[in-house]
Amino acid sequence: MTPGDVAAAAAGAVELDALAALARSCTACPELAAARTQVVVGQLVPGARLMVMGEAPGADEDRTGEPFVGRSGRLLDELLAEVGVARADVAVLNTVKCRPPGNRTPTRAESATCRPWAERQVELARPAVVVALGLSATRWWLGPTSLSAARGRLHERDGVQVLATYHPSAALRWGPQGEPRRLLREDLALAARL
Ligand code: URA
Repeated sequence: MTPGDVAAAAAGAVELDALAALARSCTACPELAAARTQVVVGQLVPGARLMVMGEAPGADEDRTGEPFVGRSGRLLDELLAEVGVARADVAVLNTVKCRPPGNRTPTRAESATCRPWAERQVELARPAVVVALGLSATRWWLGPTSLSAARGRLHERDGVQVLATYHPSAALRWGPQGEPRRLLREDLALAARL
């Protein structure tokens, strides 16, 4: 499967389940396809107003096939609950669908190759608000920027309101009293109100 095949398959998918089935057998990134246990397609809740996007599956996600189920996912669920949102009502996906070996950052080529899957998922799921968690997701939506430049205001892309914020892993690194956790919670609260 080539990057061109991904683009064609994604563009041709007319509903989310069909896209997921196609994405699950993707082999367009040879290193990722060889190292992964499974493709983590995402949890695309039909009709969900809110979507969150992370960077890439980690070990727990690779094992279970679901996004954000490890430590970062548990913190995300906790913060969502604190701001009155059930995880089950939120669409969750990543910029790339396969775990990069050793949890390295996805390469530019991997991000570009995988992009049409998530682009089509966004088109089909039609969220009103997307929270981009961390720099990879922020750049996926907004192009070259920094988190400090992008965070703290709303961006509009193709009819979707985009909020850039800290990744839960940063919140975990800085601890419960750290700024990233406070700001992530604040941004999720804003997203829930929009
Ligand atoms: N980190 C991410 O960015 N995505 C996941 O699904 C899990 C951890």
